[in-house]
Amino acid sequence: MPILETQDLTYVYGTGTPFEKTAVDHMSLQIEEGELVGVIGHTGSGKSTLVQQLNGLLRPTSGKVLLKGKDIWAEPKKIRAIRFQVGMVFQYPEHQLFEETVEKDIAFGPKNMGLSEGEIKERVKMAAAFAGLKEDLLQASPFEISGGEKRRAAIAMDPEVLILDEPTAGLDPRGRDVLLSQIVNYHRQKHNTVLLVSHSMEDIARIADRVLVIDNGKVAMFEKTRKVFSQGARLAEMGLRVPQITRIMTTLKEKGYPVSSGVLTV
Ligand code: ADP
Repeated sequence: MPILETQDLTYVYGTGTPFEKTAVDHMSLQIEEGELVGVIGHTGSGKSTLVQQLNGLLRPTSGKVLLKGKDIWAEPKKIRAIRFQVGMVFQYPEHQLFEETVEKDIAFGPKNMGLSEGEIKERVKMAAAFAGLKEDLLQASPFEISGGEKRRAAIAMDPEVLILDEPTAGLDPRGRDVLLSQIVNYHRQKHNTVLLVSHSMEDIARIADRVLVIDNGKVAMFEKTRKVFSQGARLAEMGLRVPQITRIMTTLKEKGYPVSSGVLTV
């Protein structure tokens, strides 16, 4: 069974107004447990609207989101709990952190598992260490810590599905590298499912198993990373490009140089 599935998922903004916009248009897709999925698409293609429905921040206009086979809106009162199973790191991660201290935020998951106070404290410590979050920050308010620390705190919350929406936006190159490595490590060690929404084809090529390409609210492609980036012309029609290195190698090959095609990273 896929860990996450959408069935005919549709989201319309401003229904019945002159600004009516179908941002997500009958999307049906399945994400398997433990996959690292890259999500790409031109600005305005519907990426954010899609992922915000996956953790219940937006309620679908029609269609369904199933988490481990269950409709997440089956009991609307329990939707907040879904947000801890399907965690989301935004460009502005403050939207993900709810409690008055970082520690309480990270403790939410373990608490729901019915662990003792001592066990919870231990888990929180381990999770923080794993995410590279300094222990003295645990008593800080999620609003006092830096952008990079907020992203780490969201990773420390250890959701079953972690969605990162442009997580490297606004970070310097070093900060980007550190965060990307952290995401890869997190994925390798926990085998959790990760969705990475990014404008950086380089980042996606480096770490994704499969790539979901969204065009005008619809699923345009959902295939292995190498397969997606071997379709440069089709991506270009959607205003997308392949990683620079892929383009260079393809051009060299076209000019007759004996290089391999399908190269994704430097
Ligand atoms: P992406 O994340 O790929 O840039 P979005 O999901 O943000 O795309 O947007 C998809 C479409 O929905 C765009 O046409 C955008 O203008 C529209 N849209 C997004 N948010 C709103 C909103 N709050 N109200 C009205 N239209 C919106």
